[in-house]
Amino acid sequence: MTDSSPSAPSLPGGAWPVLEPGWVWLCGAGPGDPGLLTLHALNALRQADVVIYDALVQSAILDWAPQAEHVYAGKRGGKPSARQRDISLRLVDLAREGKRVLRLKGGDPFVFGRGGEEAQTLIQHGVNVRIIPGISAGIGGLAYAGIPVTHRDVNQSVTFVTGHDQSGEAPGSLNWRAIAEGAQVLVIYMGMKHARRIADALMQAGRPADEPAAVVCNATTPEQQVLETTLGRLADDIDASEMQPPAILCIGRSVLMRQVLDWQALAAGQIPRDLDPLGRGRPAEVS
Ligand code: SAH
Repeated sequence: MTDSSPSAPSLPGGAWPVLEPGWVWLCGAGPGDPGLLTLHALNALRQADVVIYDALVQSAILDWAPQAEHVYAGKRGGKPSARQRDISLRLVDLAREGKRVLRLKGGDPFVFGRGGEEAQTLIQHGVNVRIIPGISAGIGGLAYAGIPVTHRDVNQSVTFVTGHDQSGEAPGSLNWRAIAEGAQVLVIYMGMKHARRIADALMQAGRPADEPAAVVCNATTPEQQVLETTLGRLADDIDASEMQPPAILCIGRSVLMRQVLDWQALAAGQIPRDLDPLGRGRPAEVS
């Protein structure tokens, strides 16, 4: 294959898997920055005949598959614009036509991405599948904001939550009291629309209103915006901001670490706001 995209990086030497005709590779594209693709994803982009991609996949990533047909299959805000079943069956049809199919989804395909459903349908129809994980927005997006998803002084666990259920409503099926009591740090996907209900439920269950919270929208892209607030102010601050989905909400003291770890601000010449935001009073590496 010729390299028709001048900016496309090349793969390191080695034996890379071959995307055979009739196969579907279900692949995570990471949270946005094309540099956060995996090498397996790049290998897939190089070989695909057709790329079926979601709304959150950056167009620059598709430029790395200039030989392929690009098919948009996006759904946003819980309102399906292409029904999930139709997407899955389209993948089956393409595979049966003998195409090399790359199903590209934002972040990781198995994290709130319905990748499990698509893979299950494919396998039920006898289609060969390979799964390529990606960097999920709730981890990589927070890292780009300078928020470590775990930090030894803060949390020994992290809870990933979706703010929407299948119908697009706030997830009534979730036990918010149990989450409030058990989750050290919460990372909430698709939480913008119902931020007020979520914050209220958490506070009613005992989480303090002054608990640190952050919103990271368009994480890892040039449009990344970060809002630092508290649980009590979260919904009002979102309303007052211009911030739009996609966004990750993070609730917990790890948000404070941004005061020292906002590496993008440091790269732009700012100085750290606080070198010891958790008030340990000793070097970070000393137990
Ligand atoms: N599979 C994806 C998540 C899909 S659900 C993953 O692993 O990241 C879609 C939600 O992911 C969005 O509503 C938002 O909460 C989050 N998200 C995805 N990309 C994002 C980005 N660049 N910035 C902030 N949030 C993002």
